[in-house]
Amino acid sequence: MTSSTTDTREIWFLTGSQGLYGEDTLRQVAEQSRTVAAALDGSAGIPVRIVWKPVLTDAAAIRRTCLDANADDTCIGLITWMHTFSPAKMWIAGLDALRKPLLHLHTQANTRLPWSTIDMDFMNLNQAAHGDREFGHIQSRLGIARKTVAGHATDPATVHRIAHWARAAAGRAELATLKLARFGDNMRDVAVTEGDKVEAQLRLGVSVNTYGVNDLVAVVDDVADADVSELVKDYDDQYRLAPELRAGADRHDALRYAARIELGLRTFLQDGGFRAFTTNFEDLGGLRQLPGLAVQRLMADGYGFGGEGDWKTAVLLRTLKAAADGLPGGTSFMEDYTYHLEPGQELILGAHMLEVCPSIAAGTPSCEIHPLSIGGREDPVRLVFDAAPGPAVVVGLADMGDRFRLVANEIDVVDPAEPLPRLPVARAVWKPRPDFRTATEAWLTAGAPHHTVLTRALDTDVLDDLAEMLAVELVLIDDTTTIRRFTRELRWNQAYHRLAQGF
Ligand code: MN
Repeated sequence: MTSSTTDTREIWFLTGSQGLYGEDTLRQVAEQSRTVAAALDGSAGIPVRIVWKPVLTDAAAIRRTCLDANADDTCIGLITWMHTFSPAKMWIAGLDALRKPLLHLHTQANTRLPWSTIDMDFMNLNQAAHGDREFGHIQSRLGIARKTVAGHATDPATVHRIAHWARAAAGRAELATLKLARFGDNMRDVAVTEGDKVEAQLRLGVSVNTYGVNDLVAVVDDVADADVSELVKDYDDQYRLAPELRAGADRHDALRYAARIELGLRTFLQDGGFRAFTTNFEDLGGLRQLPGLAVQRLMADGYGFGGEGDWKTAVLLRTLKAAADGLPGGTSFMEDYTYHLEPGQELILGAHMLEVCPSIAAGTPSCEIHPLSIGGREDPVRLVFDAAPGPAVVVGLADMGDRFRLVANEIDVVDPAEPLPRLPVARAVWKPRPDFRTATEAWLTAGAPHHTVLTRALDTDVLDDLAEMLAVELVLIDDTTTIRRFTRELRWNQAYHRLAQGF
């Protein structure tokens, strides 16, 4: 599934004006807005095409364009700019019908005022300063969710903010059509991995359905031996293979079975159009190993994954991988596992039973086989590595009963203080911001999950934009967090989100 989520997508660039200006002015408006759209389209940071649309001067054309945007699956969002004054009652029907993310760009064609030559013609042509205020008013009056970005289109800071929003829009577009397959149900008695799948489909778009794990086993058993042999050669090329897994060695069969699981899973997911999945170690049916290596490699190819039936984290992982398309850094399923609690030096060690994505690995992973103390199956094959150090974000999605809540913590992944020669799983070690005590107390106070997505590719600005587009609560734990303010924010958010939902 390595196909890009951003290559085929586009964002439409709409320019507002009105008929009063006459053809001559409107021709200049069109020219200048084409230039702005082209500048954005040409900037390397923006991952999708920016498509200029003809200048809008009346309500019927505006409404038609918004309806066309809704209907076009390649269009993942709209950028609007009121180059001149566009009386905003013209925008009511269009904005009211719009179902795509909106970015209001507050800009101007020129960077410098032509002090010595400025006259009323210039003033009349370049009046976004008040044209965009009229547009801001109608958006607020209608309660339209949007991002507002001010600055010249060639300013890297402007481009950077639009790029973040475009990535969030790509994530949202992916989520809107995502299908997730669960093999087995939720791990018994676990609360946080549960959730309302009907609500998720309504609010987010994703469709979540469960399949009997033996449906998968049938596909796994059907895989041709020749295909297994080929894939095992790939493993040998890409990883440091443990001696006992090599051809001829006594555990080689286990590696072949791991490859068989990978090929079967890929086929099942591809045939069903699924881009995310979950497994459950309590429910493996006829599978001889808990899928480890297979899950890790599918994640590296862009699939969303959650352990123990955790579909919400799998959905979040796929969404953020789509948003991060083409960026360096990597994005993985993660679980807060255990702590280093030396005062002042506290660290979190994150891992999972097996399933950490090699996109966050520091070096070449080693491919190993070790016993698994739970699950009661044959020893599973897995990739083992340390995560690369650097700034990152962990983010979790919880179902609070009446709504979904995203919680994000800005962290710094660090090199482990010492080697971990006896730990047979991939892991990440990090320092949470602002400090261990505040970050973990805030995380627990928010009721956020133990399963998360760790991303080194995206920052929290993208999450902010995504949460706004989805109308989902996001609480952020960062350098500025204090427990007192965080606790109040949760309380206020609770009131706000309940009111915002209406009846
Ligand atoms: Mn888990």
